[in-house]
Amino acid sequence: MKDTVKNIAVLGATGSIGSQTLDIIASHPERYRAVVLTAGSRADKLIEAAIAHRPRRVVIGRTELLPRVEAALAPLGIECRAGDEALAECVEADDIDTVLTATVGYSGLQPTVRAIRAGKDIALANKETLVVAGEMINRMLAESPSKIYPVDSEHSAIAQCLAGEDPACVKRLLITASGGPFRTWPADRMAEATAADALKHPNWNMGRKITIDSATMMNKAFEIIEAHYLFGVESGRIEAVVHPQSIVHSMVEFVDGAVKAQLGLPDMHLPIAYALGCHARLDGAAGHMSLADFATLTFEKPDVKRFPCLGLAHTALERRGNTACVINAANEIAVAAFLEGRIKFGQIYGVIERTLEAVPYIAEPVFDDYVASNAEARVKAAEMIK
Ligand code: NDP
Ligand code: MG
Repeated sequence: MKDTVKNIAVLGATGSIGSQTLDIIASHPERYRAVVLTAGSRADKLIEAAIAHRPRRVVIGRTELLPRVEAALAPLGIECRAGDEALAECVEADDIDTVLTATVGYSGLQPTVRAIRAGKDIALANKETLVVAGEMINRMLAESPSKIYPVDSEHSAIAQCLAGEDPACVKRLLITASGGPFRTWPADRMAEATAADALKHPNWNMGRKITIDSATMMNKAFEIIEAHYLFGVESGRIEAVVHPQSIVHSMVEFVDGAVKAQLGLPDMHLPIAYALGCHARLDGAAGHMSLADFATLTFEKPDVKRFPCLGLAHTALERRGNTACVINAANEIAVAAFLEGRIKFGQIYGVIERTLEAVPYIAEPVFDDYVASNAEARVKAAEMIK
């Protein structure tokens, strides 16, 4: 009899999305099995997850941590690997059905490319993959049996709104944004905000990098780019709408004036489960929401003056080429510098803008161009910060 349990490779298993994915897998052994787990540097957390899930293989990014991982897991018959090539290669094994990509930033690109080449389905949390190389990824998908199922709550909401609809009848995508911790702060106070201020997200408990991206609204810019490549809607028809309660996860407006929305508690288990199930619903994935507890749902226009990073979505989609790749790389360097106290919150945008001016434009990048643009942008951004 055919094995009906789906084998999942969880990339970034020690993180926020990775551990919520493992919750779902643990609660549904009749549907899912974790066969590969990867992590960057948190060896102890990886070991703990591997002892609980007994995957066939684990991979840790930092090679110096391999002996520690091996000492704990090799006696259990778990194969242990380390380094960048192992992180990318581990998605290709024949027994893997779906690769869930929940690493941070540019690191998601290479394993996703390898997974598409190997014909795997992708549950995509790592939005930076589509930001960096959306055009190339879509070309690859056109020639592969692989499909991408978005984990990002907004894109999951849009996919849910589009189910059963004619794509030709879509007028606009409305991507909701909480507005982050600085939604009501004046610009001068925001400019001086500390990492501790920026890490206090009002509604979501996420990894540090995406939490800072939410505070600058760069996350929303990335999500507009992500939506463009996932749903084939041009940037002029994708709008961000600030919705501080994070109950409406996004909306689609149709040509007849209808607007469909997906609502739910701010809980990533639901979109993760919807992606793992290739858009099938999982009973009890997230908690019950009583609308009466959220009697007031409000919506406002985003303030691009105070959140200039938001405007970079349209810059990226108008200029295309390697523009978004450069923006992403500069943002990663700027966010890391901000978290380490080396630049102020108000300087993040300037680093990105100046890096964009400094790195040569490539109109039709292929894989190696993305690699080179990413590397060059990181160097330029780091020089500016110095
Ligand atoms: P976390 O920081 O919580 O976790 C990131 C994971 O990736 C960890 O397992 C980390 O390993 C691993 N990792 C980080 N860098 C590398 C690297 N260079 N190579 C290999 N592994 C690496 O992040 P989140 O879970 O919050 O976010 C993951 C992705 O999902 C991001 O792209 C984010 O934008 C997206 N996303 C997240 C949401 C959320 O609610 N958290 C919502 C929507 C999208 P270790 O910790 O062991 O070093
Ligand atoms: Mg999101």
